[in-house]
Amino acid sequence: MKKKIAVIGSGIAGLTIANLFKNNLNFEIMVYEKEKTLSLEEGYGIQLAPNSVSILNKIGLSSLDNKEFSNPSNLNFYSSDNHKICDLNLSRFNSEEFKYTTLKRSVLIEFLKNELFANNLRFGKEVKKISQIKEKLLINFKDNTNDLVDFIVISDGVFSNTKSIVENKSIQPVYNGSIAIRTILKNLPVSNYDKNSISLIMLKNSHIVIYPINKKGELNVVCIIRQKLSNNIDLKALIKKEIISQNKKFRKSF
Ligand SMILES: Cc1cc2nc3c(=O)[nH]c(=O)nc-3n(C[C@H](O)[C@H](O)[C@H](O)COP(=O)(O)OP(=O)(O)OC[C@H]3O[C@@H](n4cnc5c(N)ncnc54)[C@H](O)[C@@H]3O)c2cc1C
Repeated sequence: MKKKIAVIGSGIAGLTIANLFKNNLNFEIMVYEKEKTLSLEEGYGIQLAPNSVSILNKIGLSSLDNKEFSNPSNLNFYSSDNHKICDLNLSRFNSEEFKYTTLKRSVLIEFLKNELFANNLRFGKEVKKISQIKEKLLINFKDNTNDLVDFIVISDGVFSNTKSIVENKSIQPVYNGSIAIRTILKNLPVSNYDKNSISLIMLKNSHIVIYPINKKGELNVVCIIRQKLSNNIDLKALIKKEIISQNKKFRKSF
């Protein structure tokens, strides 16, 4: 008799594990996602270390179009006045098969979704309660439906609500008081940064990370600023104060 696995959350973690189990005849797998659709926000990048690539290759990532990803060779550290401080050679962690990889998050999610069958995914399903009934686990969803399964994989992200439900206590991530600002650039703001590497620019109270996400020249920019999150942040003023004032080359980037 097949064992039934419920995967909670259709982020990268949930979709990956579902793909790994999908062809195993001993298991029946279902992914439950609280949102109405998959989050395919354009633009944002993701970095995959060789170990993640080795897992994703088991489900065919190596067949992805070569133009859709990049393999940065170095992580270069720069000072606020764009002088290189030092570097880390990322390719030393690579093997012939598994290389440090960067790509658009939406490209990865699309790939993971396409490899799954439509009947492996259910949307609009937010976990309300989980109870044990003999050897089985009963999941009650907020839309008053339920499922009886053998195993549950909780992959509902850093703000996981399901972990709190299972543990019966509130589990919250520790917030260190920073915010992330992201954008996509077509050109490097500073000519001496290497477009085939990851650039990390160290500023006071903030840092900026720039990396290629494909072979079309698109670059992902993430800027982390030490600033408590609130509803009334003046983003323009914050960027001016914490970034542009220290590095004028970023004036046109945001
Ligand atoms: C600015 C920024 C940059 C980042 N860059 C990188 C990077 O370069 N590399 C990297 O590895 N990571 C990066 N991360 C972290 C990245 O977000 C995670 O690595 C990755 O998205 C985690 O995937 P996940 O599947 O665990 O969770 P998520 O992507 O958060 O997916 C969780 C899913 O579960 C669903 N869900 C939540 N609660 C429930 C519920 N009760 N019932 C059902 N479904 C539910 C959510 O809707 C969501 O679809 C970055 C994060 C940020 C904010």
